[in-house]
Amino acid sequence: MPWELADGDDTLIARVVFNRPLDTVYHYLVPESLLDLIQPGQRLKVPFGRGDTMTTAFCVGLSNEISNNKRLKTIHEILDREPLLTQQMLDLTEWIADRYLSSWGQVLEGVVPAGVKKQAGTREILYYRVAENVGPISSLKLSKKQQLLMEILAETDEPLRVDQLSKSANCGTSPINALRDKKLIIPEKKRTHKAQLEELNVQQQADLVLNAEQQFALDEILKTVRSAEHETILLHGVTGSGKTEVYIQSIREIVSYGQQAIVLVPEISLTPQTIRRFRARFSSVAVLHSHLSDADRHWHWKQIAAGEVQVIVGARSAIFAPAPQLGLIIIDEEHESTFKQQSTPRYHAREVARQRAIRQKIPLILGTATPTLESLVRTIDGHDKLIRLKDRVEARPLPPVSIVDVRNDPMIMKRHSLGRAMTNSIQQAIRADGQVILFLNLRGFSSVLWCPKCQGLKCPDCDLTLTWHKDRERLLCHSCEFEMESPERCPTCGQPGLRFLGAGTQRLEAEVKSKFPEAKIIRMDSDSMRKPGSHDAALSAFREGEIDILLGTQMIAKGLDFPNVTLVGVIDADTLLHQPDLRAAERTFQLIAQVAGRTGRGTKGGRVLVQTMNPDEPVIKFATHHDYDGFAKYELKHRKAMNAPPYRSMARVILRSLDEKLVAAESKRIVQAIREIIKEKGIPVRVLGPAPAPITRLRKYYRYHFQMTSEEIATIQELWRHCVPLLKVASDVELTIDVDPVDLR
Ligand code: ADP
Ligand code: ZN
Repeated sequence: MPWELADGDDTLIARVVFNRPLDTVYHYLVPESLLDLIQPGQRLKVPFGRGDTMTTAFCVGLSNEISNNKRLKTIHEILDREPLLTQQMLDLTEWIADRYLSSWGQVLEGVVPAGVKKQAGTREILYYRVAENVGPISSLKLSKKQQLLMEILAETDEPLRVDQLSKSANCGTSPINALRDKKLIIPEKKRTHKAQLEELNVQQQADLVLNAEQQFALDEILKTVRSAEHETILLHGVTGSGKTEVYIQSIREIVSYGQQAIVLVPEISLTPQTIRRFRARFSSVAVLHSHLSDADRHWHWKQIAAGEVQVIVGARSAIFAPAPQLGLIIIDEEHESTFKQQSTPRYHAREVARQRAIRQKIPLILGTATPTLESLVRTIDGHDKLIRLKDRVEARPLPPVSIVDVRNDPMIMKRHSLGRAMTNSIQQAIRADGQVILFLNLRGFSSVLWCPKCQGLKCPDCDLTLTWHKDRERLLCHSCEFEMESPERCPTCGQPGLRFLGAGTQRLEAEVKSKFPEAKIIRMDSDSMRKPGSHDAALSAFREGEIDILLGTQMIAKGLDFPNVTLVGVIDADTLLHQPDLRAAERTFQLIAQVAGRTGRGTKGGRVLVQTMNPDEPVIKFATHHDYDGFAKYELKHRKAMNAPPYRSMARVILRSLDEKLVAAESKRIVQAIREIIKEKGIPVRVLGPAPAPITRLRKYYRYHFQMTSEEIATIQELWRHCVPLLKVASDVELTIDVDPVDLR
């Protein structure tokens, strides 16, 4: 009937998704009362499931085209006054869900910071002021504390918070409440932004005059900027070639158009040094690091969305910053694995950045001294543009790198960490007033407590050996919270005579201290740098020359620029090399190149010593010759032969359960079913596995995995959609899929 039709047309339907592993979009009716308020990007409360439990959902779209809306449920409430995301960002999250085989609702939940959802930092705060018409305080019958409080309040013009009052009068809340009950002081509520942002007083600096290589790179980037088309540019510049200056001057251009830039850096290089460099060049820089409080994060988000920020510098998740007119995205140290998120949604910030840049028709710059093979191959295939900075600024040479074969070194045989050559070189460097950086990949004191019968002592909940931490006098698991005192006897077989084997940073520190008692030494690893700010303090002490030797883990390998470092020692190049990981060689090459980049930055020059038991290993040789091209050619050939990324796309499925038999059986069942689908539909995907994961047990859970590879990621996505019905695993088993995994353990 016509009136029914008209009625139907007026009906507004919301498309919503839930923060659950379902990849369905649900439809709900928008009630009359909410018609003018609802917008995509808001969160809603809706009845869900058989019991109509009130559940939070994200509104991802609105339409009035659905016909049979009789059976639809109705939205109960809108939770956010303003949308949390723009339509553009909603579309991007939909792409992420699709690309990483995750649910849209889970992606949204992961992308919007908790502080933004909670509107953190804008709560109401209670203040007190003196009531009017209160006579002279001395005439009131008050206790001493109450009298003091009245005097304090009467003296200040402004109302005071409860905590301010109790602090100044040195009292609890009861005298304050008593005064309130007597109506001598009056409560007042104010909505305040709590965020206490640090006072910034940074001296602005002028841009540097670029050298010819830098200028060429900048010109190429600006061509793309002005073309108003997307292009990804791989800026492959050796350490110290001045990439940051190229970033800064590229940003300068888009800022002059009134646009904003996002600069992604690995969390670890979010040091004050990096931050200062950007703050010294742009008047409004937002720094998004993982230690921000919810309130600060919310405040930054609002400022960014309002277009008040020129440059957003942050770790992985800063790619979601709501910049209204984004003009440029830069990823520094593109090769770092921290750009891949290791929990749902398991996105890679580089790929999300590429997608955002394509949609907004802006350039994406990937900067690094050691490009990932993925990024390199895209330039070889002609998808992306390659620009190289071959020389360090001011033609400083790259440091000579020498391999030290320690297989027969008498010191190493006596279980020292520093071989003879390393010890002598440290001595020389310090005598010549240079500074030394020593790099070792393992924290702790000894890697293993060794039982002659059972070998290394393992964590009872994980399949990992425990590490002895001398400062805490405990054995720790580096994967879970398990820790124990060092036992007299082996807990498994009761054998006495346990020995410490291997060396971590703590033990290295002890050895360096005893060999160089005069030197000032600082250790940097996640144990010694647990207090906020200690990282910055240590680095500035090193820069000021108060420290002779800086030793530590990965934490010291990146982004640091200290001109006085004349020696870098890699204590053990082999630990990384021998990890059971597709990218073990690539990581070893990157690490040696990055660590080597920490020296020779000043006029004194510098050198690098690499201790290894595998001096003939090609990767180590390429690294000592600073030969990225040679390394890439060698490793790409190997990857091609193995049918591995970057030539094939990969997704890894991990199943875990407390019940080992169950998880093994479920893995087998699923892989069998997937193989049948592959055969039936003729989808070209190879399945490897199932097998126990390299870390078979983690936090009490048994883990199995299998891998799917194909030439195109789209093929794996297609297969996975056919698989969804059979992925209903037993209730005691959890299934995760990791697309483009970087961690295969
Ligand atoms: P990268 O990021 O490529 O490792 P940096 O950007 O850290 O290199 O630059 C290394 C050093 O060279 C920094 O101290 C920087 O200030 C300096 N520098 C960069 N460009 C120039 C230039 N054109 N002229 C003089 N010094 C420069
Ligand atoms: Zn453990």
